[in-house]
Amino acid sequence: MDVKSTKASPILTGSQPINKSRLGIHSSHLPYSQSSPTYSNNILAVSRKKPGTFDDVQSNVWLEAMRSSSPPRKKILKDFTDEEVASDDGDIIYRAWTIKYPSALNSFQQIMNRAKNRKLVVFLDYDGTLSPIVDNPDRAFMSADMRSAVKRVAKYFPTAIISGRSRDKVYELVGLKELYYAGSHGMDIIFPPEDMASGNRSNCTKSTDRQGKEVNLFQPASEFLPMINEVFRTLVEVTKNIKGAKVENHKFCVSVHYRNVDENSWPIVAQFVYDILKDYSRLRITHGRKVLEIRPVIDWDKGKAVEFLLESLGFSCNQDVLPIYIGDDTTDEDAFKVLQLGNRGYGILVSAVPKETNAFFSLRDPSEVKI
Ligand SMILES: [Mg+2]
Repeated sequence: MDVKSTKASPILTGSQPINKSRLGIHSSHLPYSQSSPTYSNNILAVSRKKPGTFDDVQSNVWLEAMRSSSPPRKKILKDFTDEEVASDDGDIIYRAWTIKYPSALNSFQQIMNRAKNRKLVVFLDYDGTLSPIVDNPDRAFMSADMRSAVKRVAKYFPTAIISGRSRDKVYELVGLKELYYAGSHGMDIIFPPEDMASGNRSNCTKSTDRQGKEVNLFQPASEFLPMINEVFRTLVEVTKNIKGAKVENHKFCVSVHYRNVDENSWPIVAQFVYDILKDYSRLRITHGRKVLEIRPVIDWDKGKAVEFLLESLGFSCNQDVLPIYIGDDTTDEDAFKVLQLGNRGYGILVSAVPKETNAFFSLRDPSEVKI
């Protein structure tokens, strides 16, 4: 595994630096920090900076990224059509978009024709794909009907869930033992020993699943575990007074949700997160749907996880396989790209609004995934 180093994360420094002990976090609790960081615990720090400074520019860039991670419908339509359109025109624009990314439902026969004499392998994201996006991520449950539908699919085709959540959490939410599970954006994969194929199998360890069955674990970011736990604890501490902020530990990555935070407080969230992350050059931040994701800087993503699972299942160089990946978020684009290369399989984007994607087909929402 290639563990790359990188430059420090973008920084939003405040006007009144304070040390960690002011936040109740002693430096001895932060063994991975590479320098003495300067924290701003002042919630007005962003607005008190001098206008036009580098920090303001950085601040604006990140805030814009946070805002655009879940833009209003009208703005999305404007971005796509290059002109202002009324929300009422949304359906027309959406239908125009599906000319480029046809509905997987309407293309069912085309998919089946290509799947003829091939083995379908199905990959599914969880949030926004099998479950609706909800305000409280702990309440993102999939319906019983959806569970039955996935169970039926898994009866006939190898089926894997690849989620940003921890593997344990997504297993708890899905609850189907016949599936393969990859948590932490593919950085935590479980696969049974009988599927062990030849090839590079570093970062693999043997373990037992919840039923006591022997399994193989692939955890390419295992060395980051103490660092992730440390950052998680720090983020929980510094965001505890920001109403609506929620920090989740997904084992090999951490999420900071700001969906329920007043938009006026988003600069505070951004500042705290980036102030902390600037001391962790081996961690990076990506933007999800009203969530900041903190993950290790390693050459691994959902696309690599798809390739790993295909290889584990003995399908890596097999022309008789048709992989299908259904997902809704930017992290799923890596998987779409892998399937797009060489027309290897089909990516299916779940989206109610038009957007550029590496997927081949589209579905409007999780209810269409179920069908
Ligand atoms: Mg998702």
